[in-house]
Amino acid sequence: MKNFNTKTYKRKIFRTISKYKLVEEGDKIFIGLSGGKDSGAACYLISEYIREKKVKCELVSFFIKLGDFVPDEHIETVEKQAEICKIPLKIYDVKNYGIDFKKLKKHPRPICSSCGIVKRYLMNKIPREEGANKLCTGHHGDDFIIFFMKNILGNNINWIGKFTPLLPGRGKQLSRIRPLFFAGGKDNKKFCDEIKFPYVEEDKCPYIFLKKKIDKRRKKWYETIENIEIWQPDFKEHFLKGIISLTEKIKTEGDEIKECEICGEPTSEKICAFCRILKSQEKHIGN
Ligand code: SF4
Ligand code: ZN
Repeated sequence: MKNFNTKTYKRKIFRTISKYKLVEEGDKIFIGLSGGKDSGAACYLISEYIREKKVKCELVSFFIKLGDFVPDEHIETVEKQAEICKIPLKIYDVKNYGIDFKKLKKHPRPICSSCGIVKRYLMNKIPREEGANKLCTGHHGDDFIIFFMKNILGNNINWIGKFTPLLPGRGKQLSRIRPLFFAGGKDNKKFCDEIKFPYVEEDKCPYIFLKKKIDKRRKKWYETIENIEIWQPDFKEHFLKGIISLTEKIKTEGDEIKECEICGEPTSEKICAFCRILKSQEKHIGN
């Protein structure tokens, strides 16, 4: 979207929601809020959509607090976001699920990778246990183009089937909806700024310096696709449509989904990555 216009942006997101049937009567949708612009924009637009189109479904936003290091202002921003969207907010603390970031730091696995596992696990378990049938996230088009290219480069074809605005659930895995599938990260920021929607600019996590190294590479990827968009108009939109067509054609089932022998949550292994993290965390008790 070259000349940003909030109405065009909103229409684009609404088109994605209706074309891919992201929201249907009777749904109970949990929306993961991180405090950032992307999940905030997704939450705002999906709640606007159900009000404008009068869809009878339930929306609940939720926030996963990763530790005591999360500043009060961050939580206040998330609270403001939910309030503007006029939907309830639930806050869950990872310590109630046995996670302690100080111990995870001593774990051989990089802390940001453990953090990703914890978030993905809880973002499926919590909404499902609360009776939701769908999970809405703020993943956007730039993310999907980059995930797609990285998976092709890594010859990881099984993942390609996951790149769609609606990923149907399997077993205990909830259906995922991505209303921002055709929007870019910059558009989400411009939208939030234009409508004065609050969001957190910078993560206050004490391990952010570790993530910055990963972010540097990611930034290069984002810059690359932005540059292509300059000389190839609508590159991102056409690329994303191509990804969807490919996904529909090859429809891979992905890894077989089993249930973890310890916690019963979905996994492709005998023991899920979350339970493996908890186990190795125990080794650091008292450290
Ligand atoms: Fe998690 Fe981000 Fe902190 Fe890494 S920097 S541990 S990904 S919150
Ligand atoms: Zn488990």
